[in-house]
Amino acid sequence: MLSVRDLQKHFPVTKGLLQRQVGAVKAVDGVTFDVYPGETLGLVGESGCGKTTTGRLITRLLEPTGGSVAFEGRDITHMSQGHLRPLRRDMQMIFQDPYSSLNPRHTVGTIVGAPFRIQGIETEHGVKKAVQEILALVGLNPEHYNRYPHEFSGGQRQRIGIARTLALKPKLIIADEPVSALDVSIQAQVVNLLEDLQNELNLTYVVIAHDLSVVRHISDRVAVMYLGKVVEIADRKSLYGAPMHPYTNALLSAVPIPDPKGRAGRDRIRLTGDVPSPLNPPPACRFHTRCWKAQEVCKQQEPPLVELATGHKVACHFPENAPAQKADAAV
Ligand code: SF4
Repeated sequence: MLSVRDLQKHFPVTKGLLQRQVGAVKAVDGVTFDVYPGETLGLVGESGCGKTTTGRLITRLLEPTGGSVAFEGRDITHMSQGHLRPLRRDMQMIFQDPYSSLNPRHTVGTIVGAPFRIQGIETEHGVKKAVQEILALVGLNPEHYNRYPHEFSGGQRQRIGIARTLALKPKLIIADEPVSALDVSIQAQVVNLLEDLQNELNLTYVVIAHDLSVVRHISDRVAVMYLGKVVEIADRKSLYGAPMHPYTNALLSAVPIPDPKGRAGRDRIRLTGDVPSPLNPPPACRFHTRCWKAQEVCKQQEPPLVELATGHKVACHFPENAPAQKADAAV
C-alpha cells in the first residue's frame, strides 16, 4: 500500500540578514520501508529521531527533500495539492495531542463533519446523520453532537480526533503518538478502539510511538528509528523476541515487565548521553557515540540495512541474536 524509499527531510539552518544557509537539520535522512494492506507498522524511537517528520512526509504535510513515497503504486512525492486532494480521503493522520488538535470553538458535529464539507461529499441522509454514525462507531454518544471539545475528557477527545479521521473512510491512517498524551488507564481503551476499528473497517496503520511497549500490542511489524534512519525493522515476534540492533535492545530493556519472574536475568541497559544533534550527526554508524559494542569500524563505515533473517533487517556491524554467517557478511 505504501512504499517509502530513501526518504529525506533536511531543514535548512540560516544565518544573518541575507538568510544564508549555514547548515541543515537532517531530521529524516534516508528512510526506506513498505507498509502492506491491512497491517500495522509501528515506528519507534526517542524524541528527535525523525519519526513524526516521517509521518508528515508520508501524508505530504511536509515536502520531502529527497527520496520517494508511493501510495498504492502512485508516486506522490511531489504531487501538487490539487492532485493530492482526492488522495487525502484515503490517507489520514491522527495527531498526538487531543487537546490542541481540536478547535475549541467548534462543536463536535462541526469538527467531525468538516472533512465532508471540505471534500464536498454528499451523504445519503445528510452530514449530521453520517457524523452521528461515526460518533457511535468510536464509542461516543451521538447525542453529544452539539457539545464542545472542553466538555469531554482526554480519552473522549482522542475519540473525536479518531472520528474525524474516519469520516471519509480512509485506507491508511498515520497515528502520531495517539495515546502518549493520555492517562495510562485510558491508553489501553484507545489502543483497543484502534484495533477494533482496524478489523471492522479493514484499515492499515502506521503507529508512531516513542516507546516499544505501546506498539507491541497493536503492531504486526516494527521499525526502530535513530537519528533520522531506520536501524532495525522486523515482524513483532522477531523484534521483541530476538532484537538485533543494540539500540533496540536498549529500548526494550527499558520497558517495564510486570511479572517479577520475567524480570529475572534481565539487565537494564542504560544509554549514556543524549541523542546527538541531527544538525551534526556522528559519522558512519550514528549510534556509535552511545553504543557499548562500538569498535573502530563503526566510526568509519556506515552499516547498511541488511536482511539477516527472513523479514528482519538491521543496520549494525555487530548485531546481536543474528545467524552467525550472515552477521559476518554484514561487517
Ligand atoms: Fe554499535 Fe557498531 Fe552496531 Fe553501530 S554498528 S550499533 S556502533 S555495534
